[in-house]
Amino acid sequence: MNPNHYPDIIVGGGIVGAGIYRDLSLHGIPTLLIDKKDFTSQTSERSSKMLHGGIRYLENLDFQLIFEALHEKNLWLKIAPELAQEREFILPVYENSKRPVWQLAIGLFLYDLLSGFKNKPFKILSPKQTLDLEPTLNPQGLKGAGVYADAIVEDALMTLHCIFDAKKHCEKSKALNYTSLQNFEKKDDIFHLELKNELTNESLTVTADHVVFALGPFTDQVLKNFHQLHWQDVLLPSKGSHLWIKKEKLPLDRPLVITSHDKEDRVIFVIPHADKVLVGTTELKTKENFFDVKISKDEIHYLLRHLNDYFPKAQITEDDILSSFSGIRPLVKEDGDNLGKTSREHKIYRPYAKAFVIAGGKYTTFRTMGQEITRTICLNYRIPYNHELSLEKFQSKIHFKPLHGEQLSDTALINILRDESPKTFEDLIKRRLALPTKKLWRHKEESFDIFFSKRLNLINQYFHCTKEEIEQYP
Ligand SMILES: Cc1cc2nc3c(=O)[nH]c(=O)nc-3n(C[C@H](O)[C@H](O)[C@H](O)COP(=O)(O)OP(=O)(O)OC[C@H]3O[C@@H](n4cnc5c(N)ncnc54)[C@H](O)[C@@H]3O)c2cc1C
Repeated sequence: MNPNHYPDIIVGGGIVGAGIYRDLSLHGIPTLLIDKKDFTSQTSERSSKMLHGGIRYLENLDFQLIFEALHEKNLWLKIAPELAQEREFILPVYENSKRPVWQLAIGLFLYDLLSGFKNKPFKILSPKQTLDLEPTLNPQGLKGAGVYADAIVEDALMTLHCIFDAKKHCEKSKALNYTSLQNFEKKDDIFHLELKNELTNESLTVTADHVVFALGPFTDQVLKNFHQLHWQDVLLPSKGSHLWIKKEKLPLDRPLVITSHDKEDRVIFVIPHADKVLVGTTELKTKENFFDVKISKDEIHYLLRHLNDYFPKAQITEDDILSSFSGIRPLVKEDGDNLGKTSREHKIYRPYAKAFVIAGGKYTTFRTMGQEITRTICLNYRIPYNHELSLEKFQSKIHFKPLHGEQLSDTALINILRDESPKTFEDLIKRRLALPTKKLWRHKEESFDIFFSKRLNLINQYFHCTKEEIEQYP
């Protein structure tokens, strides 16, 4: 058997590709997963980090999507409680809000109904009850609030779990980061894929019976290069940015949903995490390089303006921003081009009987999004598809949690370097250690630079980096 031939190859190691990779491996089908950059380094680590039905989509009457997403959210709360936690979200209503409290109550009832009443039941609060719960909120014109349940997820970590869990179930499955697809051709009934190692520039040709393109927002850009496919654009990419704000400036206990004052009537989530508060998001068309999207000054002002309207006492300024991140939503084009109103449903295209392109969707629904593809591939190998398999708890052990600085022993560091395939110093810091910047380093005894400089030899057994790179890390 040709070692470079696989039953199936998945191109794109975000949550969608990782979910399909895991499901196929759970069915014993050896699969190759590749990503041009590090796994989950693009959209799937730049989300608002919520598993949610999408309260906002009630307005678009996307009931099917909300139903499915709420079902998935409640499943993950049971399967992966270490990655997803239920939180109560407060949605305050003001005199000038678009919807009065009674309409909000109907919406929240519908939301709970669509969850099959598996959600923690919603509540409606008077202005006094709202301020008792969240005293930093602006009291002026406050009419009350709705409280409903959704979940917060460790988005990058969940994707990594899917990838490393697959290997536990299927020895022959393989995941390669920093490996890009350069060329794609169908000859007879076999797909030929030319791959490039992005760090060494080496190339390799692999073949497959099936190919799955799970390229998220990069779908059109990548597929347009392959003449055989005659690919026409299917996406309406939409940029969204977030800020991490110092928690001492905004010491919230619960997440809040605030409504923007623009005509789009967008919502902004203000979500307290362990040591910082996440604020976002925006929604814009962009012509930036999707691999290098950055928050603009306008977006920063937009988010800060709304924060200060809702929390005037906090007086948040740019000095209170710890870091920011931006991503591109891979929305599938519909008739109009209103980003906010475009559905978050996914779509699967079949350029050939055994080639699949999956686009759109939400992080929350990744498990069910890929099932149609996995079912078809299983059918082609006469393997019965068992949708219960992907409900198994993760067997992978990812050493991520204790690494916020406090207990980063040499052994823990070796485990990460050996088991989780970081390929650059940035991977190690940014994702494996969940440290977006040095500002968040909270190791009591040692500074960031000294800690990593001392372990340079150890780190360089796995990849090369210099002491200067460590010191220069932002
Ligand atoms: C601002 C924002 C907030 C969001 N918030 C939420 C939320 O709270 N909850 C929710 O459910 N959803 C949310 N979403 C949506 C969700 O994040 C995305 O739907 C999901 O992460 C998309 O995953 P993906 O795997 O399709 O794409 P990606 O994660 O982008 O993965 C695609 C991969 O393809 C790789 N790639 C590109 N070119 C090549 C090539 N030539 N060869 C090999 N690999 C290649 C890329 O490196 C990338 O890793 C949000 C999205 C955004 C942008």
